[in-house]
Formats: sequence, structure tokens, C-alpha cells
Amino acid sequence: MSTISGDAGSKSKTIFAAVLIIIIIAAVSFAVWYVFFRDELSARERILIHFKCKKCGHEFQMLNKELNDQILKAADPDGNYEYRQNAHCPECGAQWSGELMLECKKCGKHFVPKSEENPVCSFCGTNFFESMRGYDPESENEGPQPGENVGRPGRRPR
Ligand SMILES: [Zn+2]
Ligand SMILES: [Zn+2]
Repeated sequence: MSTISGDAGSKSKTIFAAVLIIIIIAAVSFAVWYVFFRDELSARERILIHFKCKKCGHEFQMLNKELNDQILKAADPDGNYEYRQNAHCPECGAQWSGELMLECKKCGKHFVPKSEENPVCSFCGTNFFESMRGYDPESENEGPQPGENVGRPGRRPR
């Protein structure tokens, strides 16, 4: 931006127009890439995970793929990374402060389980495992379950 000076009127306008065209081309190609990229995701990577930030209380959703990317990004130079079920909060920016939420199959609401052993819905009081009983996971995208690994620990793709 510092190369565009005020006294080079028409020249800076030309540069501005050129930059604008480049931005538009970049945006369009990103959109095209994004559409295909999403299509190429596996069913598992497309799972939408709900999180709640422990810091600011913001609730957000993230694809399993995006969570895996965040985890891989935090890997050390040797490619080792820590498996996590937490995500960065997009609202306040706190690292790994988004806690995994489970979907209660009884009332359909998302809640943060107080413990992995006894995940009880904070809205209707139903145990998550109880609410899963008789529920057909084939009918819908199956969400992550407590203690289940959503990543592939120890191995880095490529
Ligand atoms: Zn937050
Ligand atoms: Zn419930």
C-alpha cells in the first residue's frame, strides 16, 4: 500500500483497478476451490461439531476437518501433536477454549457434558447414552461421542 502515493493520481487508479481485478479473480477461484474441496471431504470430515467457549460462552460449529486442521497446525516441527477435542474460539480468540458439545437426541439441544462417564443433557436431564438408545445413526450424520477420537493421533497426512 505504501507504493501508492497521492500525487500519482491516474497511475494509482490503474494500480487500484488491477489490484481489484486480482482480488476478484482470487475470490472467485477460492470459491470454486472451496466448493470442490467441500465435496471431496469424507463423511467423517464433514461431521459438524458443536463447541462452547469456556471463556466467553460463545457457541460455534466447526467441521471435523477444520478441527483436525487446527490440531495439525499446532504440531511441533517433528509432526507430533496432541489429540484434542477442543477448538479455538472464533469470538474471543482463546486457544482451545471451545468445549465439545453433544446433541441430546431427546430434546435436540446441544450441551457440554459435565463428565465423559455420565453425560447428562443440561436441558432435559436425559443421559446422552440413554437418548442414543433406539436412535438410528444411519438416518443422520453421526456426531462425535464422548471419548471418541475425532482425529488420527500420531500420524500426519502427507
Ligand atoms: Zn470465546
Ligand atoms: Zn435434552
